[in-house]
Amino acid sequence: MDCSEARRKISGFINDELSLKDTVAFQDHVRHCASCRDETEVQLLIHASVDEQADGDLRTYDLRNLLDKKTASQVRYLRRMRLLTFFFLFLAAVLIGIFIFLLLSI
Ligand SMILES: [Zn+2]
Repeated sequence: MDCSEARRKISGFINDELSLKDTVAFQDHVRHCASCRDETEVQLLIHASVDEQADGDLRTYDLRNLLDKKTASQVRYLRRMRLLTFFFLFLAAVLIGIFIFLLLSI
């Protein structure tokens, strides 16, 4: 992922709209690119600030920690969803197999 693609994905990253592949690519890019990491941290701070105003609660933020926590939780969520999808596809394949077996044995 290059800088211009990373910049376009910042909003999607913050709003949990990226796929697992894009999230991992984005995470790899911002880990090695100080410029995009700074931009992401600023955007995250603005996003957190808007949430904070909605909560009416003032806090200070550790930007790097905020970005790392966001990235880690997003990757965990997307991996869980992928595992769940695989499980349901596997279950559907087993049920179809049983159905075909029953049809053929009648
Ligand atoms: Zn970059």
